[in-house]
This record gives sequence, structure tokens and C-alpha cells, in this order.
Amino acid sequence: MDHPLSVYNSLTRSREQFIPLNAPHVGLYVCGPTVYGDAHLGHARPAITFDLLFRYLSFLGYKVRYVRNITDVGHLENDADAGEDKIAKKARLEQVEPMEIVQYFTLRYHHNMEQLNVLPPSIEPRASGHILEQMQLIQKILDAGYAYESNGSVYFDLEKYAKKYPYGQLSGRVLDDLTSQTRDLDGQDEKRFPLDFALWKKASSKHIMRWSSPWSEGFPGWHLECTAMSTKYLGETFDIHGGGMDLLFPHHECEIAQSTASLGHESVRYWLHNNMITINGQKMGKSLGNFITLNDSFAGTHPLLQKAYSPMTVRFFILQAHYRSTVDFSNEALQASEKGLQRLLEGISVLDKLTPAANSTISISGIEEKCLQAMNDDLNSPMVIAHLFDGLRIIHLVNDGKETLSESDLQQLQKVYHQFAWDILGLKEEQTSDRMELISGLVNYILDRRMEAKAEKNFAASDRIRDMLKELGVEVKDRKDGFDWKLEN
Ligand code: ZN
Repeated sequence: MDHPLSVYNSLTRSREQFIPLNAPHVGLYVCGPTVYGDAHLGHARPAITFDLLFRYLSFLGYKVRYVRNITDVGHLENDADAGEDKIAKKARLEQVEPMEIVQYFTLRYHHNMEQLNVLPPSIEPRASGHILEQMQLIQKILDAGYAYESNGSVYFDLEKYAKKYPYGQLSGRVLDDLTSQTRDLDGQDEKRFPLDFALWKKASSKHIMRWSSPWSEGFPGWHLECTAMSTKYLGETFDIHGGGMDLLFPHHECEIAQSTASLGHESVRYWLHNNMITINGQKMGKSLGNFITLNDSFAGTHPLLQKAYSPMTVRFFILQAHYRSTVDFSNEALQASEKGLQRLLEGISVLDKLTPAANSTISISGIEEKCLQAMNDDLNSPMVIAHLFDGLRIIHLVNDGKETLSESDLQQLQKVYHQFAWDILGLKEEQTSDRMELISGLVNYILDRRMEAKAEKNFAASDRIRDMLKELGVEVKDRKDGFDWKLEN
């Protein structure tokens, strides 16, 4: 198959013509979420970026096997080799089984993805369902001489590996610099070299999620699952590996080292990374108070948002930036996206109702080619959107009776808009957003009146409002500078 799609490969730092390995089949692996909390804007970006790629490759006629994992074990706090497992910690705090946490947040993640019109992957493997494959991979790395056992744990021997293979090429890091920056952390005494990373960790007596292995009762290291599951489902060499830029180091560097050590060669042909989302120019973080979950955005329940923004507005907002550039999320930017999306959807609805004439007085040629060119240019979705906006001019001229389109031209134009807006960009009409917007507007209005009552020290009125909202299922949380609220489940 000959398609001029070019993609930016993070490893070679260059544009490369995408040529599928086993045409027409394409193997695509994307690092999925660690399911211990609700999905936030940082999860939406890779999900939408690789949905765009999945949709476009499918549109071009490729058969894509898209694997996106669920991390449900082994991801420790601070992404390090020490500290508590993120899921086990949540389970301990909530006094439930770790797998209840996994089930609860996986279902909520799927719901959010459906709201964003992100297509489900072909396979969604879980780390805990592939312990055997991970143990086999550890054994292979041990047999190849690039890992060692220490006190029941197994570590990757990075120093030895780096003598034979390059390390740090993907993220542009230099091993010596990294070594000098490494602080003394828990578990360092088990390692021969400070940057060695865990393939298997012996579980402490308090650790809940544990499996028997030849080395100890324990659990796999976080980086291992992606190497084990990608090669299991996509083969020892596959086409595309994607993820957020925050995963470049150490996660993806470790994946490269693991597959190279066990197979003698790298598995991935093209590495694609989406850039990050900032909020009002700042990094997103729980401690910064700007941690916006998708549910917050859809309901307008975060203090940084003036109102609810529908899933399609969030999707459109993300697609309006090229995946390799940063996106700054703000109330104003979302408002602009909401207006833009509305203009596009209204235009398509006008297009669908146009009546054909005997002949065309205006040319529609070029729109489809331009959109295809933009997509082939490293998935330039903002350019596709710009071309679709340009085309709206023709639609409105015909609708106003100033120009005409023949039946075949009209059908062609409808086909182009449906293909690009619906099938490739994955946009759709929404009905529910208006209602949520109304609820969110009303609750915010009532809570502003409550703030006024408090300012006047009328605490009886302020409490009455809070109790009344609680009875209606609105949970209000006071903050220093205002309030948070959410609808009880
Ligand atoms: Zn991964």
C-alpha cells in the first residue's frame, strides 16, 4: 500500500515515511493509564492523539491491531523502585481489595473514553493478567546476562547493558549525567549501580499484591509489563509505540533496554509522543490545585472553570493543537473551542440540508486533498480543522443562494466533511451538554449567593443553602478562595 504518511520518530528525531511492517497490518502499542483515580486532562491527550492515529490508519485501509494496556500492579509512588504501589495505597486508604480499585476506575476510564468518542483498542491487556509473561521475560534477560538477583529482587544491569548498547537515545539523556544526579533512595543497597531498575521486587510483609516466582514472592517492576505485552500481542518487532512525553524517561528507555537485552534488537520502529497539557501556563498537579479531572470539565465543577465543557469541546480543543506542541488549558481557550466547534457542527448540518442544482457555480476541488495532505504531514489536525473552516464559506454561499452545487459536487462535499469531521477527527453531535451546562450554571449561581451570605456573616442562610444542595445530591466543599462542588454518584 502506498500512502505518503510521514511521522516524526522520537528516536531518530526526524520525519520518516511510515511504511507498515507487514502491510496492510499495523501494530500499534500505547501506554495506558494506571487505574487508581479518575482520568484527567493529561489522560485525554494521549487517548485522543492515538485515537486520531488509529482512526486515520484505519481510514487509509490498514488493518490496525491497537494494544493499550491497563496498569494495575507494580507502578510505585513517584514512578520509582521504592515506595508503595499506587493501587495498593488507594485500596488501603479505602479499605477495599486492590482489584476493586482497579475495576472501579477502569470502568470510569472507559466511560470517559466513550464520552470523548475515543474508540476502544483492539486489545486492552492488564499487567496483573500477564505475570507469567513478565516472569518469562525476566528469565530471558537473566539468561542473556543483563540482570542480576539481589535479596529476592531482580534488577536490570544497566551498566553492563550500556557497555554494549546505547542507552538514553530516545530521551537524549547521558548515563554519566544521570548517575551523578541520582540521590540515595530506599533499595539502593540492593543495586550494583544506582540507575539499575527493578524487574522483580520482593514483596515486604505488608505488600498486598504478590505472586510466587523463582526469585521471591513479589511483583513485577512497572516498566516490564509494556515490553512483555507489546511483544506478546504485536510480535518481536512492531510498527508504532506511543505515549505521553512524560514517559520518554525512564519508562520508554527502560522498555527499549528490556527488549534489546532479551531479543538482541529493539522492538519498535517508530516512537510517537504527544506533548503535555499545561493549565493557565502551569504544570498540572494535585498540590497546585489545578488538577482537573475529565468529570470536572464535563460538569464544570472545578473552580478554574466558569462552566461545564462537553466532552466534544474538550476533544476539539485537544485536536486544535498539533500533538507535538504543548497545549495550555484555560477557561478562555475552552470557550473559544466551544464556539469553534459549534460553528463547524452548524456548518455540517447546513451542508446536509442543501439542495443540489443542475450545475456548480463554485469549485469544491482541493478541500479533500488539502485535508489528506495535512493528515499525512505528521497528523496535522489543526490544519485539517482550518481547511474544514475554509470550506464553510462555500457551504454558506450555497445556502444563501449566491452559488450552486451540482448533485455530484454536493455529495462529494458531504462525503469529505463526514469523513474528516466524524470518521477521522472523531467529532460527533452532542445532546446532553446543554442540560449539564444549565445545572452547572444554576449551582454556581446559588453558591455565589451563599458566598455573599457568608461575607455578610449570615451563617444561618449559608448553612441552609449548603443543606438544601446536599439534599438534592450536590456535595459542596469549601475552599480558602471559594468552593468546589460535585454531583453525588
Ligand atoms: Zn508503558
